[in-house]
Amino acid sequence: MQGQQRTSSQGRAAAGPAPTRTRAEKALPAVVQALERGRRQDAARLFLQGLSHGIAPQDKPLLKWLSRAIGKELTAKLVNAFVHFPCFYCKKGRTRCEDCDARGSLEEGTPCRTCVGIGVARCEFCDGSGWVTLEYVPEGLRPVVIRNRAALALQRMRNLSRQPVGRPSSGDADKTVKRCSQFLLNLDRQMGVFENVLVAVEHLPEADHAKVKLRSLADRCVQTAAKGENRIRETILCMANAFRAAAKTAGKGSRKRSQAERRAEFYAALVDANRTLAGTGLEHPFLHKAVNEAIQRSEPQAQGGGSHKSRRR
Ligand SMILES: [Zn+2]
Ligand SMILES: [Zn+2]
Repeated sequence: MQGQQRTSSQGRAAAGPAPTRTRAEKALPAVVQALERGRRQDAARLFLQGLSHGIAPQDKPLLKWLSRAIGKELTAKLVNAFVHFPCFYCKKGRTRCEDCDARGSLEEGTPCRTCVGIGVARCEFCDGSGWVTLEYVPEGLRPVVIRNRAALALQRMRNLSRQPVGRPSSGDADKTVKRCSQFLLNLDRQMGVFENVLVAVEHLPEADHAKVKLRSLADRCVQTAAKGENRIRETILCMANAFRAAAKTAGKGSRKRSQAERRAEFYAALVDANRTLAGTGLEHPFLHKAVNEAIQRSEPQAQGGGSHKSRRR
């Protein structure tokens, strides 16, 4: 293809670059162009393609090499593209609940446990985070992507903990429930990120020098998740109270009243610390285990039936 006469004057006529090399050389400018045009997802895809064509040297840390090749600013943009790359299977961590046909309740009017009566189920692929799984992210960028995702979820959870859950007695129950449902999904999305961070850090090779720092970040995620669990319970309680209020205003013996009562009961049972969230779209077993262990570590004397916080089995 390119072996013209001119090369022979340099005395290395036959040693032309392999075709993959040329493709690799083209790949990086294409990534840069996409980033400069604000097409983050395209940039991420092009970068992955480039990697498969040997765009990056195998013997250098990817992040360092990238910073040198395209500069810090564009590297940060590319990392950001992977941080926010949406999951392929859901919208913001949720999919249509198949169990209840997205109605939130089953045939007999019983609230659907899978989606806790909301009608949207948590995405199994991304654990409700709404972001593409880390397997999609180039290995050399995973630590920084994990760090940025954790930082974002921590910030979002802090913001959510400042917001009032909602007053069950004010306005009509439907509005309260809608607001609480949205709030619950937001909370649960951050919990999904926390759980993914926890799992991802565990899976990093011990030799990865980023692991130590990420472990302490994961600990912060667990501490914040403990608050998140409490917040989730408060929100569910608010929903129970809203339905209780709705039952009171509905006509005696009416279908509306019995449905509201059933819902109030359902949500009240979910908040009960002795009951379980297992089987619901709000369960994060791995994260919950870490939360419980952290609580036990901080309250060693609480053993012997003293833990009143959030024990589920
Ligand atoms: Zn459902
Ligand atoms: Zn998903």
